[in-house]
Amino acid sequence: MVYQHVLIAVDLSEECHPVLQRAIELASRDGARVSLIHVIEPMAMAFGGDVPMDLSILQQQQQQQAQQRLDNFARQYPQLTPDNCHLGFGQPRQEIHQLASEQQCDLIVVGSHGRHGLALLLGSTANDLLHGAPCDVLAVRLKKPA
Ligand code: AMP
Repeated sequence: MVYQHVLIAVDLSEECHPVLQRAIELASRDGARVSLIHVIEPMAMAFGGDVPMDLSILQQQQQQQAQQRLDNFARQYPQLTPDNCHLGFGQPRQEIHQLASEQQCDLIVVGSHGRHGLALLLGSTANDLLHGAPCDVLAVRLKKPA
């Protein structure tokens, strides 16, 4: 199986570098294109929906900061350019699946913490992404920080 377009989902933490390295390694083996996505989760979602105040200025700042972090992140990889780096806004699973479909990606690469105990109940982005994915999903095991 040869992949043609690999979509890398990152939360822009330092932990994500092994995910990127694995995805880039796979893509270069197959001669595939790469794209990157980071999804900003709306602040109202964190508060469970209804928030009795205007969050638009905070949201604008959140978006600018995310764009800056994404640019700094991408600068470290020559394969990443402004054209193949995307910022989504909404629910990560929905945004990542939508971009994967629009861009005809055939592999999504994501990090996985291998949760257990209580953390399992909270779920994980990798697990969430598997449901209804429009293509293959590779979960790269992330090591716990020492
Ligand atoms: P988590 O399950 O939230 O610990 O995240 C595991 C992995 O999901 C991260 O290493 C990223 O690959 C991906 N991920 C988490 N949050 C986001 C996000 N907001 N946008 C894109 N990818 C994400």
